[in-house]
Amino acid sequence: MLNNKSFRQEAHKLVDWMADFYENIENLPVKSQSKPGDIISQLPEIPPTKGEPFEQVFKDFESIILPGMTQWQSPNFHAYFPANSSYPSVLGEMLTATIGAQCMIWETSPAAAELEELMINWLKPLMNIPSDWTGCIQDTASTATLAAMISAREKKTNWSINQKGFDSQKLRFYCSSETHSSIDKAVKILGAGVENLVKVEVDENLSILPSALETAIAQDIENGLIPCAVVAAVGTTGTLAVDPIDAIGVVCNKYNVWLHVDAAYAGTALMLPEYHNLISGIEKADSFVFNPHKWMFTNFDCTVYFIKDEEALIKTFEILPEYLKTSTRGQVKDYRDWGVPLGRRFRALKLWFVIRDFGVEGIQTRLREHINYADWFANQVNDSDHFEIVIEPKLNVVCFRMINSTKSEQQLEQLNASLVASINNSGKAYLTHTKIKGKYALRMVIGQTYVQKHHVEKAWTLIQSKANALI
Ligand code: PLP
Repeated sequence: MLNNKSFRQEAHKLVDWMADFYENIENLPVKSQSKPGDIISQLPEIPPTKGEPFEQVFKDFESIILPGMTQWQSPNFHAYFPANSSYPSVLGEMLTATIGAQCMIWETSPAAAELEELMINWLKPLMNIPSDWTGCIQDTASTATLAAMISAREKKTNWSINQKGFDSQKLRFYCSSETHSSIDKAVKILGAGVENLVKVEVDENLSILPSALETAIAQDIENGLIPCAVVAAVGTTGTLAVDPIDAIGVVCNKYNVWLHVDAAYAGTALMLPEYHNLISGIEKADSFVFNPHKWMFTNFDCTVYFIKDEEALIKTFEILPEYLKTSTRGQVKDYRDWGVPLGRRFRALKLWFVIRDFGVEGIQTRLREHINYADWFANQVNDSDHFEIVIEPKLNVVCFRMINSTKSEQQLEQLNASLVASINNSGKAYLTHTKIKGKYALRMVIGQTYVQKHHVEKAWTLIQSKANALI
């Protein structure tokens, strides 16, 4: 069993291993090449009765576990959205794990609560979030969105569902077909039911049509239903489509409906003043979520949740068992009342480390680089006879596909699915796909913390050579 002396020795070795890992990460297969059952079949079915030397445990980690990991921190990772890390963030996580605090209330770690408050205060003006809003750090955007939708439910029903459960209310929620699946999940969990999630029509850019939203709300009211909340997306998962917050806000304010903005990925772009127009009209909204754990170089999990009516949130989630009563209550922020879980990790530390290490300008420079690389990539696609852009690229996401005038839509889908599989099986880059108005498209996301132009050039060369092999 490790003791303080051997912990020190092993930890020193581990830090060297970690630095080497980052130095060599781009030589590892980006997508794990493991087959189902590969990992578990190499491990004993029962746990050891006696403790094993850490060297042995670590050897197994390197030889069995590591090959079964997809390398999300590789600069050749262009799939999904990134779940970024960075050197200061990793150091923050090491300290968080070492201190191992459970930060449910101010008294269980005053610095954790106050640093969390400070991070919200730092980010608000940078991102152009209204100064009279507050906020907190949550684990995931899914949880923050759930908190927003439950708060909306309670505010709309004067906290009666919290007290009595659903009676005959038919609460209605609205989003587009492009909005993230966490909204579908939230209506199940909060008890409204998926039948009461209205998918509003979108325009050719896949953004919600405010007129269609207003028609849906008005129709529901006429039918005796209760419009409760709209979830608008700033940067959908498939294509980074942006819903018009200002126009949606006008409709929501008119009908007294909560407006939650899901900017899980693209919210980081608000660190750049030139993108503040993405959330024009935000003052008409009620809540906003974004994930520094996606594009802002901070380890998963770290979600920032901004809210206009802090009291509504706290009134919705407040609990006060005897063992949590403290003398500082009312003078400090007890974040256990700001969302679903009671227990909370010290997530603000890594975010604080990242912002201080990069500096605001350092973050902005890197984001602009990513966006420029995506512009370069989109130009290559545009200049090629074998590929096309499927929808206008936004920020650092380019949706494109291989084309061939002799092939049907279905054959093109098969061709592009084969292309993405052959890229990913090479281990040299990792891309994922989406469907845009029925067309199968590859998504090139250029947002990994340490990605450089030459990685993007290499990916484009790889994509072309894999495409040539399929022609
Ligand atoms: N919203 C959007 C637009 C997303 O793209 C995602 C995940 O990719 C989520 C929400 C869910 O994020 P999380 O994993 O933090 O719950």
